[in-house]
Amino acid sequence: MTVVGLDDTDSRERGMCTTYVAAQIAERLACDPASDSSPSDPVSRVCLVRLNPAVPYKTRGNAALAIHADVDPDRAFAIARDRLESLAETADERTNPGLVVTGDEPETVPTDVSAFAKRAIREHLSIADATALIDSHDYRSWSAGNGRGRIGALAAIGSWQARSEWTYEYISYRDSSRWGDPRAIDHESVFDAAARGYPDVWDTVDRGEDETVCVPHTPGPILHGIRGDDPDAVQEVANRIEGEPVASSRLFVTNQGTDAHLRNGTIERASDGRAYRLDGRVASEPETRRGGHVFFTFESVPAGESRLECAAFEPTKRFRDRIRALRTGDRLTVCGEVADGTLKLEKFAVRDLVRTERTTPTCPACERTMKSAGRDQGYRCRDCGTSAEGKVERELDRDLEEEWYEVPPCARRHIAKPLVRGGFDAPTRCER
Ligand code: ATP
Repeated sequence: MTVVGLDDTDSRERGMCTTYVAAQIAERLACDPASDSSPSDPVSRVCLVRLNPAVPYKTRGNAALAIHADVDPDRAFAIARDRLESLAETADERTNPGLVVTGDEPETVPTDVSAFAKRAIREHLSIADATALIDSHDYRSWSAGNGRGRIGALAAIGSWQARSEWTYEYISYRDSSRWGDPRAIDHESVFDAAARGYPDVWDTVDRGEDETVCVPHTPGPILHGIRGDDPDAVQEVANRIEGEPVASSRLFVTNQGTDAHLRNGTIERASDGRAYRLDGRVASEPETRRGGHVFFTFESVPAGESRLECAAFEPTKRFRDRIRALRTGDRLTVCGEVADGTLKLEKFAVRDLVRTERTTPTCPACERTMKSAGRDQGYRCRDCGTSAEGKVERELDRDLEEEWYEVPPCARRHIAKPLVRGGFDAPTRCER
């Protein structure tokens, strides 16, 4: 078996997409006259691996690709290099493609390579980390620009052994003559197809925003990408979508929707550039700031010594109402990436809600709020002469339950796990 890892081929302005380059390489491997004459496709799978979403060099979703194929590694290297050289948008100086090829079985790559893949999903690695490993295992490799793409390419090679949880994406590509033009897609057909595929197929649309989430807005070659837990179901949904002709399509095995980026942590030790699951308590009333972003302070329990700001940014839309419904003292588990000392919320679980508040008593006779009767002298109604010893407990109306809440599909990060996938430790409020 040969594993071809590649990364960093696209440009935010100029387009392209590493999934497309991988699909092209896979196609060439399948019809290469030099490969074995057996009629079956030598490509067993193509993996789309999302790496640490916090790395600053990413174009969009920090994707890296690996092709598993029963072909000669030298031949695979030549074909992949040829496709990368002609397709990668190297005119953009921020595009630094990398290619790594091994004759190892994907299941038995050396443990330091699978460990590298795990770290690439949660930490920051250097080009030197990647080249040292590539050299130590004598892997074939090629790169352009500063060669940063070799980090993702090597991580993609190690990912099959590093991860056990996989989902699927069925990507349909446009004819190259249409790249950059508006996509012609029948909006209703996407919603109908999404409804039929749910819950095996998720994040296809956002009903609240009336948005076809599966259709990108970028100038690249993708027409739509359908994500889900079942390989047949994602393809069925894709086939039901009406619109411009599909030039080609491919199924990818992915770590999307798995929360692979999250680590269990503590507020005290949470640091920038990593993503966490953290337990604590709301320490300030949520505040909506300019631009519609909602913030609150989160603190450790019981000491309250460590604090971290949490944010639901404007693009998270209706999720912000969940955050605005929080009150000081609520116990939560929050999930998201920390950047500039702020955790960008992806989802949270309410563990314990503050259900009462201490408030100034009202007069039982006239129902007006009592006034202070002086320091340490309780409260008094000046009109009726009634009195109370101190503040009283009042029941609060809460709009939240002890459940998991998530951002809507339109704001989901590729790697973040939608609640509909299940396996959470409390009831879930799924957004769709
Ligand atoms: P593309 O479709 O081109 O893959 P992208 O959004 O996935 O776009 P890239 O253009 O691949 O982003 O840029 C990400 C760069 O960061 C790549 O060069 C990759 O090798 C590198 N990279 C990925 N993960 C890490 C990491 N954990 N530490 C350091 N660098 C990383």
